[in-house]
Amino acid sequence: MIRENLKRILEQLPDGVQLVGAVKTRTTEEILEAIDGGLKIIGQNYVQEAEKTFQTIGTRAKHHLIGHLQSNKAKKAVELFDMIETVDSEKLAKAISNACQGTGKIMPVLLEVNSGEEPQKAGVMPAELFSLLEKISEYENISVQGLMTMGPFAGDPEDARPYFQKTRQLFEQAESLGIKNVKMKYLSMGMSNSFKVAIEEGANLIRIGTAIFGERDYY
Ligand SMILES: *Cc1c(COP(=O)(O)O)cnc(C)c1O
Repeated sequence: MIRENLKRILEQLPDGVQLVGAVKTRTTEEILEAIDGGLKIIGQNYVQEAEKTFQTIGTRAKHHLIGHLQSNKAKKAVELFDMIETVDSEKLAKAISNACQGTGKIMPVLLEVNSGEEPQKAGVMPAELFSLLEKISEYENISVQGLMTMGPFAGDPEDARPYFQKTRQLFEQAESLGIKNVKMKYLSMGMSNSFKVAIEEGANLIRIGTAIFGERDYY
């Protein structure tokens, strides 16, 4: 099942679009099956879950953090992940940069944008994005490489399109500002139901769980 699902999705991806397998709640066996089937990047929501699977998976895949990170877990996150997609505050950026200090690591991060401007959700508000980028660019052990967004939950993928468009615009504007240490290379948006629309709107990283691994029992 997992292999066939993965094959079907990978076949649909245009050149330059990379797939992140969202593995929350999946077993190590399921994740390994996906990696054997050609999955190159796994997306973890929780540092603790990542720690569990990391021992087995190691460098067989890249590891992206796609869930919210608490500053007090920055040190562990920096050890485990190749990219943190969910930076949304200066406090968190500073914690990540500090955690890298002395290790020589420069952590690639994306800024998470709250494109639906929903107060209860994670992500920086669009109006605050550029000033946050300016501030974060001062931290030497962090490299901002793009933007990530979830968008409001939508049953119909067309309902997500305006939020993807908005994030794409911010991505292009941010690049044109030419801030040091900031390179707008990755645009992470689109999930199982919306990835086709996201790709049409410029996504080059898509995060897919259900369409690879099947329905989840919870969250
Ligand atoms: C679970 C999750 C996804 C994938 O969602 P599916 O609908 O299962 O494809 C993508 N991004 C994040 C941040 C997630 O938590």
